[in-house]
Amino acid sequence: MPIATVNPTTGRTEQEFDAHDDAEIERRIAAAHDAFHTLKATTFAQRAAWMRAAAGILEDEVEQLARIITIEMGRPIAGARAEILKCAKGLRFYADNAESFLAPEWLDDPSKVGASRAGTVYAPIGVVLAVMPWNYPFWQVLRFAGPALMAGNTGLLKHASNVPQAAIYLDTLFERAGFPAGAFGTLLIPASRVEGVLRDRRVVAATLTGSEPAGRSLASIAGSEIKHVVLELGGSDPFVVMPSADVERAASVAVTARNQNNGQSCIAAKRFIVHADVYDEFTRLFAEKVAALKVGDPLEETTDVGPIATESGRQELLDQVEDAVAKGATVLTGGFAPAREGWFFQPTVLADVTPEMRLYLEEAFGPVATVYRVADREEALRIANATTFGLSSAVWTEDAEEEAWFTRNLDAGAVFVNGMTASYPELPFGGVKDSGVGRELAAAGIREFCNLKTVWKA
Ligand code: NAP
Repeated sequence: MPIATVNPTTGRTEQEFDAHDDAEIERRIAAAHDAFHTLKATTFAQRAAWMRAAAGILEDEVEQLARIITIEMGRPIAGARAEILKCAKGLRFYADNAESFLAPEWLDDPSKVGASRAGTVYAPIGVVLAVMPWNYPFWQVLRFAGPALMAGNTGLLKHASNVPQAAIYLDTLFERAGFPAGAFGTLLIPASRVEGVLRDRRVVAATLTGSEPAGRSLASIAGSEIKHVVLELGGSDPFVVMPSADVERAASVAVTARNQNNGQSCIAAKRFIVHADVYDEFTRLFAEKVAALKVGDPLEETTDVGPIATESGRQELLDQVEDAVAKGATVLTGGFAPAREGWFFQPTVLADVTPEMRLYLEEAFGPVATVYRVADREEALRIANATTFGLSSAVWTEDAEEEAWFTRNLDAGAVFVNGMTASYPELPFGGVKDSGVGRELAAAGIREFCNLKTVWKA
């Protein structure tokens, strides 16, 4: 894949970039390695001041950055702005909390282990490689970079090839904010060059957010090098609606949960599993509201849904929907690519989906929802847990016992009750099964790339 900005609204290539050559890759790895020795000797207070400065730069430049997001991957401009402001909030969160998250923990009674003092301290580990996707081109990167730098690690970013302007901006952000040169830098490289970087002895760990095949590849290389990885991979989150739910509200939230960011979110609700008692009402409201979404130019403030980020991504959606329809699925709304330039896909709701159809098990990375009618909570859970994914989930119920039952039994990294899944700096984020390993955000996220060092003193 060329490293290029190709505007999905028009399909036209706006700018191409040369990949870094071997000498430049070496220079950048060395700079990150050198910066680690400088950064780990700084105080939390110093790093927090730089981190707050980085947040301020993002806020000052929000319009420029939102435009980069919209031009490179098609997110409607209002959401693109919100993404940048969320990044600033995330960086400030770690500026405020990193020191307490990484505070030493001492045993109350060290004599039990024959010591005068014993416990743990968190130490940074070095250069961490971050392989990142295009779907939230700033948030995905900065939710890694904020905690990594606050812990005293340095980072090397290999961003998705279709968001090079975001990657180039992020290359200098932290140095502009005051961090040592090399503390965070971009490698403009294709996916095929990741292996060489990961095998470099100066790179001690890696995180990848992206597809399952990319995650498997990175994890197997890291495994052979005994290097720690965090993987945030795909999802096909269930959204369960039970009879006691506020059905009108569930249907409204379902529209956003499925279609925000043009349907290209790992934690989007993708499968809507609805009890028979409220199925007809929910499905009618949901399909009506999806049909009313405004599809169009993502630079227009009133657009709800812009284009799919890549031509191949749209083709994949078309293939999945055609497969389902050919095998008997019912199209409640959408189901086609509008006849216009760019890579648009009409927001779609499909019913009567069966296990033979690709969409029963596969992730739909775009505005395509499937709805399932179920007789009881056991059937709802069986369908919810049927895929190989386990990122997040949502359940709508006013019944406390039912809420506890779903919370206990859904195979997912998170359960949202009477709401939609979102990421918050304050809450851990990550999946089980093929959705990944490890956690980002909150205290768990900053501790992932630390050496939990045991200290014992006689
Ligand atoms: P992708 O193809 O896996 O790309 C993600 C990143 O991995 C890009 O930087 C890509 O580089 C790189 N990459 C691809 N193949 C690689 C390989 N074999 N070795 C090393 N690096 C490789 O993902 P995508 O299809 O663009 O993104 C959508 C996927 O990401 C969806 O499945 C979505 O659910 C998932 N996602 C998950 C989360 C989460 O937090 N769990 C968040 C967002 C997205 P190139 O661009 O150069 O190929």
